[in-house]
Order: sequence, then structure tokens, then C-alpha cells
Amino acid sequence: MPRASRKAHEGFEAHHRRAVLQVLLVLTAVCGAAYVVINLRAEQYVLMVIELLMTVFACTLLFVIRGTRHLKAWTIVFIIPFYSVMMYGFYSPETEITVFGWVLVIPLLAHLLLGRRLGAAVSVFFVGVAGVLFLYRFGGDAIVQAPGSIANIAMATATVFALSHFYEASREQAERRLSEMAMTDSLTGLPNRAYLEQLFEDEKQWHMTAGTPLSLLMVDLDFFKQVNDRHGHDAGDAALRAIAGVMRDNLREHDTVGRLGGEEFAILLSDTDVHQGLMVAEGLRRAIASHGCHHQAHMLRLTASLGVATLSLPDETFADLLCRADRCLYRAKHAGRNRVVADTTTAAPSETTPSIRPSSGATSPK
Ligand code: GH3
Ligand code: MG
Ligand code: MG
Repeated sequence: MPRASRKAHEGFEAHHRRAVLQVLLVLTAVCGAAYVVINLRAEQYVLMVIELLMTVFACTLLFVIRGTRHLKAWTIVFIIPFYSVMMYGFYSPETEITVFGWVLVIPLLAHLLLGRRLGAAVSVFFVGVAGVLFLYRFGGDAIVQAPGSIANIAMATATVFALSHFYEASREQAERRLSEMAMTDSLTGLPNRAYLEQLFEDEKQWHMTAGTPLSLLMVDLDFFKQVNDRHGHDAGDAALRAIAGVMRDNLREHDTVGRLGGEEFAILLSDTDVHQGLMVAEGLRRAIASHGCHHQAHMLRLTASLGVATLSLPDETFADLLCRADRCLYRAKHAGRNRVVADTTTAAPSETTPSIRPSSGATSPK
């Protein structure tokens, strides 16, 4: 999965798991408080103190998990004592045999909170411990005396385990697919604007720390409306897909091209200053201009205008950089299209804005 899609997926997943953990914490706090009263009246002081501690712990975590970036770690910090208290309840000679009904909750919660793999491992461990504690307390007698009841609990636990596992596997897969769709342009298969924005934030952090340059190209196809008008919308779509392929094929491995919308694209160029960006843009301009897009009996020739801007300030956003590249693109259009203009104003104030022009100006697509 690409990095930005993975981030989106992690975002969806964290949102889901945080909501489940919040419900569990509220239930723990409410049930814990009820058990404090029950155990106090039954004079079971050890259990009462444990339940009181769990209640306070759950209330504290409710605040902690609201803004944490370490949700999984906090979930483990909660779930291990939570299950351990359950195990103590199974072990305690004062509790009744019906307390073992809580074993059903183990696989369900573990999968919902920890996911398919870790959830399965934690479930197997604690259900196993519960089985050992059952045998320790009631020995083989209970199995002999009430084999049906024991088989019921064992089968119900296995069923809850299997269902939780299947549910979690299918939910994770659906979420992954959804994140990919949310980050991909459906026409060209290129990353979309949301993806580029996310990628820009990551790259910016990295490049600012390493002191290396990061550039952005903005690409707009020239006279694209005429392709639709003359050859139909399908031809326009085919041309957009073809140009997307040309750009992908002519970029370096660490560059990322995405579609902003319509016939506009943006490209993030890692480790690239404005002069290198200008060269990359010129290479792309040539590749697009020399590429013929076949559609039915027609051969469409397209050109593009490109703007180049390089990140210069730490607080510059994706929209800021895009805006600077767009201004250069606008100048390229005004100068006759099928050309590249770079913004060097912040990179080297004394320089004039360089541009690269083709030997002949842009013409309408044939
Ligand atoms: P310029 O050289 O000034 O950029 O002219 P242009 O015709 O390329 O620009 P304009 O903004 O006037 O037209 C862009 C056209 O792109 C308008 C619309 O018909 C077309 N377009 C936008 N999205 C799609 C799409 O997904 N598929 C197709 N086939 N056409 C699209
Ligand atoms: Mg446009
Ligand atoms: Mg255009």
C-alpha cells in the first residue's frame, strides 16, 4: 500500500479503535463502580479495591486517549490489567462458577481493540489461562457432572472467537480498500490531491530536517477543452490517461505525480532545487509534446504548460507552494503555452524568473 494510503488507513483505523476503547472504558468505569458497591456489601475487600482501581484507571484513560498518538500502546496498557482482573475473578474462591461466562468477552474485545493478529494471540493466551483456572478451581468433577454446560461455554467461546476474527479480517480489508480509493483518482489511477497533500507534509518534515530541497511542478494541458469539443469526452478521458502514463514513465522513481482535477496535475520532486526542477519540467514538456495519443482513428497531439516552485519557508503549506507554481503556470500560458516557468524569487532574489520555451509555440490540438 502506498505511504499516504497507509496513513489514511491508519487514520480510519485509529478513529474506529479509539471509539471502541472509549465505549469499553465507560463500561468498565460504570460496571467497576457497581462491583465496588457489590463487593463492599459482600465484604470482599480485595476485589473491591481492585475494582475501584480499575474504575479510576478507566476514567483517567478516557482523558488520555482523546489526543494520544500512541493509541495501541495505551490499549495494551489497559487491556492487560483488564483481563488480569478478570483472571483474578476466575481464580478467586469467593466467585461463583457463572463468572466464567465473562470468558466470551475476551476474544470479542481483543479483536475489536487490537486487530486480527494481536487480538487472536491475546485471546488465545487469556482464554487458555481461563481454562486452566477453571480446571484448577473445579477440577475434572465439573466436566463430569455438567458436560453439556461446559461444552456450551467452550463452543460459544470458540464461535465468538471465529466470528470476531472473520469480522476483523473483513473490516480491515474493506478499510484498506476505502483508504486506497480515497487517495486515488479513478480516471487515471494516479494519486489525488489529498494524497499529494499528505505526502507533502511528510516530505516537508523530512526535507526541512535534512536541509534538502523539495520542489513542486504544476502541469496544465493546453487547449484541452478543444479535445473534448472536437473528438468527444471519451477521447478527452483517453488523452488524460495517456498523458498520466507519459508523466509517470518520464519521472524519476522518487518523484510523485498526482491529478489535482480536470486537466491539471501536480508533481512532488524530492531532493530537487528550482533549477533541477526546471530541467525535469522541461523533460516532461518535451515528452508530452512528442507523444501522440491514439483514439479510434485519430491521433491527438497535446502540449502542456508547467510552473515550478521550490519550498523555501518552514511554514509554507501545500496550498502556498501550489499557488506559487500556479502563478508561474499562468505566466507560461500567457507567454504562449507549451513552456515552463520557474519561481526563483524566494530561492535567489537577484535572479530573474527563468523560463524554457520550445522552438515553436503551442498550437491547438490536432
Ligand atoms: P488552457 O490552455 O488555457 O489551459 O485551455 P484549456 O482548454 O485546457 O482549459 P479550460 O480550463 O478552458 O478547459 C479545461 C477542460 O478540461 C474543460 C473540461 O471540458 C475538460 N475536463 C476537465 N475534466 C475532464 C475530465 O475528467 N475528462 C474530460 N474528458 N475532460 C475534462
Ligand atoms: Mg486548467
Ligand atoms: Mg488547460
